[in-house]
Amino acid sequence: MLLALGLFVFGYVVSMTFTSVFYHRALAHEAIEISPRMKKLIGLTGMLITGIDPKGWVCMHRLHHEHSDTPLDPHSPAHTGFWYTFIKQHKSFERILVKLIKRDKEFEKIVRDIPFDVHFLNKMGLWYVPFVLHAIVGVIIGTAFDNYLAGIAYFIGICGHPLQGFLVNAFGHSIGYRNFNCPDQSTNNTFVALTCFGEGYQNNHHRFPTSPKFSIRSSEFDFGFGIIKFLSLLNVVKIYRDQIPKGEREIHSPLEMLENN
Ligand SMILES: [Zn+2]
Ligand SMILES: [Zn+2]
Repeated sequence: MLLALGLFVFGYVVSMTFTSVFYHRALAHEAIEISPRMKKLIGLTGMLITGIDPKGWVCMHRLHHEHSDTPLDPHSPAHTGFWYTFIKQHKSFERILVKLIKRDKEFEKIVRDIPFDVHFLNKMGLWYVPFVLHAIVGVIIGTAFDNYLAGIAYFIGICGHPLQGFLVNAFGHSIGYRNFNCPDQSTNNTFVALTCFGEGYQNNHHRFPTSPKFSIRSSEFDFGFGIIKFLSLLNVVKIYRDQIPKGEREIHSPLEMLENN
């Protein structure tokens, strides 16, 4: 049981670090700095580790911020219905990947700063390969330790992004409290924030999209930012000295904004 729990946590932390820290905060928003070499490494390995194409993810996420909770949002519960958000996020992702593979100018423009292409597995239509590889690793773990629960736990931990995405996209834009009156329907959902490394603080994040830290109130906790601090000690990422988001520096800090809201 302990082995299963340990492998689940290991897979979960690795997967969430890639999506929340690297894809989201570093690539999509440039809230933290990573080296060009690191970016290319993420472009090569991110798909294999999470099963999600990093360039496609960044493109969809930027569209989400640009069109939050309007009919053009790729995954808004306001326009697709709460449960259908799970299907919609996959359909939108597939559509965006096809556009990027076909080098559609409109979509290429959105991710022109990303220094790598759509992953070759997606170009070849082999999107399922990472999931198959993780399943094989799970079987190897199960056989080696005579503990198939451990193998399954590893697989669920590392391949959980579709479910995490649904929790953030559906709950984070419909159920929870709001610190800021953003023009969208973003909410802060404590359960999703705690299980998805701070990603559930969608209302805070939509107000300050370039802040590396998603929690603002003292009662809020962003584990993803904890990982960023750890990675900065290892020189993998760099936290900008001034953590007040770009464009807000001359006006107010997030906490001042909260007090005046
Ligand atoms: Zn959002
Ligand atoms: Zn974002």
